[in-house]
Amino acid sequence: MTAPKTAIKLHNTATRSKEVFAPIDPQNVRMYVCGPTVYDRAHLGNARPVVVFDVLYRLLREVYGPDHVTYVRNFTDVDDKINARAAESGREIGEITAETTQWFLDDMGALGALEPDAMPRATQYIPQMVAMIEDLIERGHAYAAEGHVLFAVESYKDYGALSGRSVDDMIAGARVEVAPYKRNPMDFVLWKPSSDDLPGWDSPWGRGRPGWHIECSAMSYELLGESFDIHGGGNDLMFPHHENEIAQSCCAHPTGSFANVWMHNEMLQVEGKKMSKSLGNFFTVHDLLEQGVPGEVIRFVFLSTHYRKPMDWTAEKAAGAESKLDDYCRMIEQYADLDAARTVKPLQAILDALGDDLNTHAALVGLDQLANHAMGTELAANLVFLGFFSFEKIERIVAEIRQAKSRLEPLAEKLQAIRSIAMQTKDFSEVDALKQRLNDAGVVVAMSKDGVTLSAGPNFNSAEVEALK
Ligand code: AMP
Ligand code: ZN
Repeated sequence: MTAPKTAIKLHNTATRSKEVFAPIDPQNVRMYVCGPTVYDRAHLGNARPVVVFDVLYRLLREVYGPDHVTYVRNFTDVDDKINARAAESGREIGEITAETTQWFLDDMGALGALEPDAMPRATQYIPQMVAMIEDLIERGHAYAAEGHVLFAVESYKDYGALSGRSVDDMIAGARVEVAPYKRNPMDFVLWKPSSDDLPGWDSPWGRGRPGWHIECSAMSYELLGESFDIHGGGNDLMFPHHENEIAQSCCAHPTGSFANVWMHNEMLQVEGKKMSKSLGNFFTVHDLLEQGVPGEVIRFVFLSTHYRKPMDWTAEKAAGAESKLDDYCRMIEQYADLDAARTVKPLQAILDALGDDLNTHAALVGLDQLANHAMGTELAANLVFLGFFSFEKIERIVAEIRQAKSRLEPLAEKLQAIRSIAMQTKDFSEVDALKQRLNDAGVVVAMSKDGVTLSAGPNFNSAEVEALK
């Protein structure tokens, strides 16, 4: 295969540097991203890795071909938070996880995220986890004690390399759970016993359930093999989750490299603190959508900040994004050929921006340049490429803009007539009054020497507009 036109460089947490991305097999570029624990609605912070890695997925599909990328994102559907939710609500675990999984897919779909090629659920891979744990015990990296199986961190010399900590530092800095059955306080659980009221599976160590970390090791091995290209997630997962995944996978499959590139998004914050369920400073994606914030606006706000920088969600940013997208749609209505747009390739400058460690801010500047040059067809194509809209949605929006425009025609004529009189009497009070009422009804008024143009703004209220006629 000839080298692709777009060079991709990615910041690799493992080497702490931006590296040229060279997939193991360009015919099958493989990426794994840690997914949600399904017991509740996703909060806005949970959506950040989804959107970030969706952009990377789109870029990889564009550069290597859509059939040459495999993206896997798991659902954690066995977890003590889920058990607690079932106990307090009296509902079945399966019912809670199925409902929450569908909520997640709906909410992320509203943000323009493509579904990964595989979305394995942890409970479907228990035998593979058990096999991996048995293998780790055999190889001397894990031990069974009191119904538990623990990974022996001292058996893996590179433990801590990803986050750059030594085992001793970790013991000093972390709130580790000390337990009598642990040989080293940093040893972590691969398997734990389940009482009768908790979900459990038969295993060589009795009825129990897996620890959290083993699921990603087992599922990525099953679906992507012992070496794959990219592993992603939020930087809150770097330690201990990713450190533990590496230890398990590299010890179980010493001939593989596990993930070559580790990518971590920074946190979405609220007043300088990570948005999280445990801090209670969260709102859900669903809340925002219900409040009428369109998914593409949320996506635009996310992409205006680089994924490796912390970011705040503010109403001001959302309003700015909404009016920008609104301008783009009006530009498309005026200047785009939407049939032609379907075959237009993404702008090279936008691909190059994304290839530069996902410089999404620069990619958005690329959209601005298309808009400034009235390149509506290209603008539409690139908005679709970046996941803001589907072509069907743009067609619907354009049809709405046209309908609103024709409904505004009589009002434009009325304003023009009042304005002509005012030009002679020099009394513009009536013009100003009508203009104000139009603004209040969400109409954007543009007056020039050539006449009056009215268009529907983001707060367009058709009932109020009708009343003005
Ligand atoms: P969890 O369900 O808490 O395991 O999180 C699912 C995903 O969301 C993981 O990749 C986390 O790193 C990510 N995540 C959680 N909170 C935030 C946040 N405030 N900002 C960005 N990513 C987050
Ligand atoms: Zn994981």
